[in-house]
Amino acid sequence: MAVESRELRDCLGHFATGVTVVTCLGDGEPHGATVNSFTAVSLDPPLVGVALSRRSRTCRYLDGAPFTVNVLCRRQDDLARHFAGRPSVAAVEWVPGTERLAGALAYLTCVPWRSYDGGDHVVYLGEVTGFEHHGGEPLVFYRGAFHRLGEPFDVAPWLGSLDNPDVGWLPAPTTRSPT
Ligand SMILES: Cc1cc2nc3c(=O)[nH]c(=O)nc-3n(C[C@H](O)[C@H](O)[C@H](O)COP(=O)(O)OP(=O)(O)OC[C@H]3O[C@@H](n4cnc5c(N)ncnc54)[C@H](O)[C@@H]3O)c2cc1C
Repeated sequence: MAVESRELRDCLGHFATGVTVVTCLGDGEPHGATVNSFTAVSLDPPLVGVALSRRSRTCRYLDGAPFTVNVLCRRQDDLARHFAGRPSVAAVEWVPGTERLAGALAYLTCVPWRSYDGGDHVVYLGEVTGFEHHGGEPLVFYRGAFHRLGEPFDVAPWLGSLDNPDVGWLPAPTTRSPT
């Protein structure tokens, strides 16, 4: 089946994500790009990943370079647009002496770990060397638009699986033939 890019993008847009700006040094100056392909990868070693279009400047700058993931808060949709190529802020506010954007929800600083061919993107894994989180409401991207997070279904935190090698496997569910 031939995959039509526009339809694939529409389908992928149903996966709601947070929004980050990945910053690094580019030609000696701080540089940033809006990225929602950010994902947690591993705790030991601590790894995170981002996928960057080969056409982006950031893709070139990240080759073998340290980077910072700035997790945006709800009020930073203007920064998300700005770092996606729609200039919308007069002056970007940085935490002095860093490549961190002032007011972000969380920061992860990374050194390069590996990079992988991802078709028209490159997947960069970074080893986390430092992080900070400040709480607050995240910015959400869903079906091509910025959103606020809705109300939780359940206030109890997720406490992990009860079906794993540490606590023992649950009995296999009985399977029924479709009627
Ligand atoms: C919600 C969302 C998620 C996205 N996720 C991804 C993704 O996962 N992967 C991906 O490849 N693309 C993603 N994009 C697209 C990506 O953000 C744009 O293609 C962007 O332009 C990156 O291009 P670039 O690296 O060439 O950066 P540039 O085009 O060079 O920079 C992007 C913008 O940021 C401004 N800027 C950069 N550095 C500074 C600075 N120091 N001070 C002030 N302004 C600065 C530039 O002027 C420019 O307007 C996403 C876009 C959106 C809206």
